[in-house]
Amino acid sequence: MGEPVIPIVNSRHKGLAAPAPLESLPAAGSLRDLRGRPLRDLRISITDRCNFRCTYCMPKEVFGSSYQYLPHAELLSFEEITRLARLFAALGVHKLRLTGGEPLLRKNVEQLIEQLAGVRTLEGEPLDITLTTNGALLARKAKALKAAGLSRVTVSLDGLDDEVFQRMNDVGFPVGEVLAGIEAARAAGLAPIKVNMVVKRGTNEHEILPMARHFRGTGIALRFIEFMDVGATNRWRMEQVLPSSEVLKLLQAEFPLVPLAHTAAGETAERWGYAGADGAHDPQLGEIGLISSVTRAFCGDCNRARLSTEGQVYLCLFAGQGYDLRALLRGGASDEQITGAIAAIWAGRSDRYSELRASLPPDDQAGGARRVEMSFIGG
Ligand code: SAM
Ligand code: SF4
Ligand code: SF4
Repeated sequence: MGEPVIPIVNSRHKGLAAPAPLESLPAAGSLRDLRGRPLRDLRISITDRCNFRCTYCMPKEVFGSSYQYLPHAELLSFEEITRLARLFAALGVHKLRLTGGEPLLRKNVEQLIEQLAGVRTLEGEPLDITLTTNGALLARKAKALKAAGLSRVTVSLDGLDDEVFQRMNDVGFPVGEVLAGIEAARAAGLAPIKVNMVVKRGTNEHEILPMARHFRGTGIALRFIEFMDVGATNRWRMEQVLPSSEVLKLLQAEFPLVPLAHTAAGETAERWGYAGADGAHDPQLGEIGLISSVTRAFCGDCNRARLSTEGQVYLCLFAGQGYDLRALLRGGASDEQITGAIAAIWAGRSDRYSELRASLPPDDQAGGARRVEMSFIGG
């Protein structure tokens, strides 16, 4: 008999109150956590709802018709999100990624993007605003998103074969409509576009090469993501992880690839470029990325914080607990108090789950530990 699935949704637990604000803020941009890592990237989940039921993220048996999503009043409002984005930017954040759930399901998401486009970095530059989407609503919304100030998009697509993809999204959504969404994003200038493919051994590894052939030479970077043990509901097993090293071997058997340098500190993907006849990277052919969160931890320079749909900040994708910034926002705290609280939270951060995974007892690796669901804090 299979193990019972116990939906433990941590963000329903009241998050910890934020620690007392730092007495004095670190000098602009100098904030570091306990491992010397700066805060540069904020991922914001703007809805806990989704129109897909990807088996690795929101399995139907847990997120069924009786599942209780957050009532609207519990979500951070656009004004609250924008205020927090401004305060995070004052602490060194340069990049915002909107996610979810499915971020394009949030009503008037364009208005939120317009507000966020007004936020400036410490250097006075606009933030790099991007969004991760399943692509279902992208064909309809790409132009408006671009006009609102979105820089680019990442689209998730787990295969080109309809049967495989529909089994994975579990709502029968066709590949063709996601491809149309990608095309619309390109036409709207939401570039460079990235495509994320979660690879699950025994489910879609035979889609790796067709996906690579399809996107090679299109200017779209395809990234292969190892199936991760996020949340507590996706029944993750190590045997279902296809290590990136194997993905690379498969690709190298067909395409000459050369390693590329990281473009930014804290980058999650290991980049490989398609080589031309001379053996050097041919930018026309493009590149692929390998995101090896399971087999090759990249915690060492992880500069990402995550803001959940209901306003808790999480310091790691695998964290069990968040810090309740909404309580501060709605309790009348000043900008200085909230900034001080965020700085204190970051200064006390030591998270490095992926580095520790292998040494944890198996129950803690496979969602046995109380972890927040990915659909609450995004990817
Ligand atoms: N709904 C949007 C989407 O699917 O692009 C945004 C949210 S989704 C949680 C963000 C990313 O996380 C997607 O690329 C998705 O494929 C990835 N993801 C979700 N569950 C995962 C898992 N268990 N392992 C690896 N990646 C996962
Ligand atoms: Fe929805 Fe994205 Fe999760 Fe799939 S991965 S269920 S599209 S939130
Ligand atoms: Fe960052 Fe946590 Fe992932 Fe490590 S496991 S890279 S600390 S989010």
